Amino acid sequence: KSVTIYCVTPTYWRYVQKAELVRVYQTLTLASFKVDIKWIVVEDSEHKTDLVSNLLKRIDNEGAHFQYVHLNAKTPPFQKLKGKDPRWKKHRGVEQRNAALKWIRDNVSSHGTKKIVYFMDDDNTYDVKLFEELTKIENVGVWPVGLVGGLNIETPILDPKTGKVASYKSGWKPDRPFAIDMAGFGINVDLILSNPEAVFSYRMEKGFQESQFLAYFTTKDQLEPLASNCTEVYVWHTRTEKPDVKGIVPGYEV
Ligand code: UDP
Ligand code: MN
Repeated sequence: KSVTIYCVTPTYWRYVQKAELVRVYQTLTLASFKVDIKWIVVEDSEHKTDLVSNLLKRIDNEGAHFQYVHLNAKTPPFQKLKGKDPRWKKHRGVEQRNAALKWIRDNVSSHGTKKIVYFMDDDNTYDVKLFEELTKIENVGVWPVGLVGGLNIETPILDPKTGKVASYKSGWKPDRPFAIDMAGFGINVDLILSNPEAVFSYRMEKGFQESQFLAYFTTKDQLEPLASNCTEVYVWHTRTEKPDVKGIVPGYEV
């Protein structure tokens, strides 16, 4: 296990939160048999909640072979725009991912084994094979993401001659500098440390978070295509239906 993967998971309370986090927890338990995992869970809340704390305690109590970091960073309430203010639309996970980046910059050094950051939303579906792909990253790795952007998959398209990323197949604005979903890339921690100004921002145009973030670190021709030259799908941008909860049975933490 010569590579550590820092998995950054923003999460917020809704009825499916625990179910989502149990799925991610169990995926990471499986992944940790082969890869060194550190799970950075960032709650979108004023305080850390019992629900998330209790779940994370299971990692210790059940002898899982990975460690976690529990943070919280609340998304500020929607602020009204004045005049020509930049668009302040509903970005998701901005505050939480930035809190994780800050934690990494404050606590992780570039010495020792290779370290990779992966933004692992709580509602996606992850094949454990993805984590082995993440260990292959030198700087920035990319791969297809299933069920996103109104397509069955989005993917970088490789130049058959050079094997490098030439363009993107994407349901929305494929001409973005990096038309890649949050789940479709991983970054070496060294790049996070050597580019301290790189953060997510509400000023980034909606739908451009990934593209503008990646632009801090790399260029299209430097991207490292993984998952068998972007022919395999190891992550799906699934979204969980909001349950229609009509009554509460007391005494249960769901
Ligand atoms: N998220 C959050 N606070 C919110 C909305 C979302 O922390 O108010 C988290 C969510 O748990 C997920 C990530 O941010 O891990 C992306 O959100 P979501 O899955 O809703 O976005 P989508 O996949 O629909 O773009
Ligand atoms: Mn999602």
